[in-house]
Amino acid sequence: MLVVRSVAVGPFAENTFLAGCDRTGEAILIDPGGELPRVLALREPGGFSVKRILLTHGHIDHVAGAAEAAEATGAPVEIHPADLDWFDAIEDHGEMFGFTGVRAPPIARHLAGGDRLQVGDEQLRVIHTPGHTRGGCSLFFEAARVLFTGDALFVGSVGRTDLPGGDFRVLARSLREKVFPLGDDVRFYPGHGAAGLLGDERRNNPFVGQGRQL
Ligand SMILES: [Zn+2]
Ligand SMILES: [Zn+2]
Repeated sequence: MLVVRSVAVGPFAENTFLAGCDRTGEAILIDPGGELPRVLALREPGGFSVKRILLTHGHIDHVAGAAEAAEATGAPVEIHPADLDWFDAIEDHGEMFGFTGVRAPPIARHLAGGDRLQVGDEQLRVIHTPGHTRGGCSLFFEAARVLFTGDALFVGSVGRTDLPGGDFRVLARSLREKVFPLGDDVRFYPGHGAAGLLGDERRNNPFVGQGRQL
């Protein structure tokens, strides 16, 4: 069974997730945004072993703890290559937004849409969902009906598209053509705020729901 745990960290209350297979104890960390002791505590109870660190996108609130998390767990860090340029100014952004001592994480592997990654008995599929950033990805555990959306989709909202690489039309297409078809029953966990159901957003989301003409 897939176990999902989360903790909100840093000045933007960014959700860091651990998703693990309860039979094998293998897990991934998603978007370690800082406050490492709290993030690493997600491994207990159960003594989960972090095998990979996946970044949904390159914004500092999602990656500020990735270098430290990689050192603490020995796990490789992975991100879509289209978001690598966010690391160029990561130290300046850190100072600007109130993160201390942030470093660019070492990237061991690039994510691509369609990748299938094994986490113990569970399999996850990478879905490239650009629009909030160019390299934004959502992570889908198909059998468990669980999706991590980063900042692409929130309960009742969508990610901002006014930052470099942002494009509302691209984001709307990602959500309508790649995310909503995954199924109304899919529980999604966004990068900020509470979890929700894709069906509720497909019907009622004020920005990209079915009633909204684009
Ligand atoms: Zn973001
Ligand atoms: Zn964010």
